[in-house]
Amino acid sequence: MIPQKTQKAQKQRSRGGHPSDPADTNTQKLLLHTCCAVCAEKAVTDLRKSHTGEITFFFANSNIHPRTEYLARLNAVRTLADRQNIPLIIDDWSPKQWFNSIGHDPANAGLRRCKLCWRMRLQLTRNTAERHGFQCFSSTLLASHYQNRQVLVEEGRLLETGNLTFLPVSRSAADSETAEKGLYHQNYCGCVYSLCDRYEGKFGTK
Ligand code: SF4
Repeated sequence: MIPQKTQKAQKQRSRGGHPSDPADTNTQKLLLHTCCAVCAEKAVTDLRKSHTGEITFFFANSNIHPRTEYLARLNAVRTLADRQNIPLIIDDWSPKQWFNSIGHDPANAGLRRCKLCWRMRLQLTRNTAERHGFQCFSSTLLASHYQNRQVLVEEGRLLETGNLTFLPVSRSAADSETAEKGLYHQNYCGCVYSLCDRYEGKFGTK
């Protein structure tokens, strides 16, 4: 079993894969990419309706800016992991790697940039799942209305291998209420671009 709490996940380049055959994944070990505590709580509640296998959180979010915000979200996920007795793996925070993954290209705005951002984090999740012997992987991003479900599911499916299945969180999870109290709730998606959008929208650019 993977140790609970802080375990640095070594990064590995993504590999091509092919979709696995349909199988009963309900009892299998699942690595859940975890973007924040609120989405994580909704995603776990949803997954546990049908999934009885062990779930492990994987906090891999080099997109988050600045570092103080990253730590606020990580601490909230730690709190949730403790409360629900869910193992937690923490990836390195590497903004340089994130900027490389989105191509440093101003043309990569909006969905184009987000798709690359999701792909990077899903690839890290798939690779870590593979290395640690999980059979399925997923992402709490699917429990958020602010992310594009269709693109996320497509990206996840493309990363499946013969040994690893992408298990989407249900569409209804995004509509559900969080039962856990007092979890940190961010007010922007995560990257510096989304932070600018948030403050430009609120205060303008002067
Ligand atoms: S807005 Fe959100 S999903 Fe899109 S690039 Fe920024 S952090 Fe990633």
